[in-house]
Amino acid sequence: MSNSFVQARGDFPILRRRINDRPLVYLDSAATSLMPTPVIDQIGRFCAQQPGNVHRSTHLLGEQASGAFEAARATAQRFLNAPHSDQIVFVRGATHGLNLLARALGEGFLGEDDEVVISSLEHHANLIPWQQACRRRGAKLRVAPLDERGDLDLDALDALLGPRTRVVAVTHVSNVFGTINPIRAIVDAAHAVGAVTVVDGAQAPAHLPVDVQQLGCDFYVCSSHKLLGPTGVGLMYGRRAWLERLPPVETGGEMVSEVSWQEASFSALPHRFEAGTPPVAQAIGLAAAIDYLEALGMQAIERHQNELLEYTVERLDACDRVEVIGRPRRRASVVSFNVEGMHPLDVGALLDSQGVAVRAGYHCAQPLMNDLGLQGTVRASVGLYNNRSDIDRLVEAVDLACEFA
Ligand code: PMP
Repeated sequence: MSNSFVQARGDFPILRRRINDRPLVYLDSAATSLMPTPVIDQIGRFCAQQPGNVHRSTHLLGEQASGAFEAARATAQRFLNAPHSDQIVFVRGATHGLNLLARALGEGFLGEDDEVVISSLEHHANLIPWQQACRRRGAKLRVAPLDERGDLDLDALDALLGPRTRVVAVTHVSNVFGTINPIRAIVDAAHAVGAVTVVDGAQAPAHLPVDVQQLGCDFYVCSSHKLLGPTGVGLMYGRRAWLERLPPVETGGEMVSEVSWQEASFSALPHRFEAGTPPVAQAIGLAAAIDYLEALGMQAIERHQNELLEYTVERLDACDRVEVIGRPRRRASVVSFNVEGMHPLDVGALLDSQGVAVRAGYHCAQPLMNDLGLQGTVRASVGLYNNRSDIDRLVEAVDLACEFA
């Protein structure tokens, strides 16, 4: 493990906690990641020194808050390599961004018998908003299947695309198998039939470099709390031509330019999608998290985590009674597994008793679990602060579970 990652562990105060009398092993970053001290301090500094509202105050504190908020937007633009900061909308998180898009695209562009295509890997957050949009508009939801490894079946996806396809919405990285989807290929296929593309990036940007221009997608959403930032804020990137055509579905203060009793005209991008007071302190915390990730280097983080994921699969494969679920060709973030004869929730509880935090259950992907005939899985997910001894502690606790099973 490189020196910078050894040192980085010291930046995460929660790793000094003991859980059930053991030093904490945190392997649940796919649910929410840990916050390093520079992020915690930056939020504290902002709250202590600049508690003005943004884009409306006439006083200095408000101006400073607005400046810091817009600087955070510029940091997010650089991180995702968006062409301009006005293409970055602050949302409350990936779920909020996806709901916003499903409502707006549904209202503006979906008609009867039109089709929305998603994949079988989708989290409920990128499924239910489209179900609802299709129901409201009389459109159809099509679901692309997987192959036996847990990779998207690209031929089957292609076969679903046609002249009625209006939207293709897929996850960048699966929160169940860790599958990295070939977004560029999916986007090209969708664009060839004139569909708009939405990428659920909740699991990606803490694990690999994300460049929305290279991916070529029309929309990309992610959550701060999965990339070392605080809860309550996320990003929605949009291609300019699409953002300009999108009806704002949330209205109120902040997002208007002229208002009369009967009419309102809307602000320029990106403010027209940010009705009400935005999550200012959270956005500033997110920018500090991005600075932290960039200082370590996304490529180095990707390498470090890939090495840990490979080690996790190798160690779990060596346990007789353990089955690793999903063997994607390219993996990030998570490894799912089950212990023979034991419910995943029981395994999760046993691991917790050993100080090892994982997630167990459906992972908000119930239709996928039903298709696989599973009651859920146990999911270990890594962050840049994990090391091989965390994985050894996981396997030690899994071995104990195998004895109970
Ligand atoms: N999509 C995926 C793939 C996820 O893993 C998650 C979080 N588990 C979400 C969407 C939703 O993210 P949030 O809860 O931050 O809105």
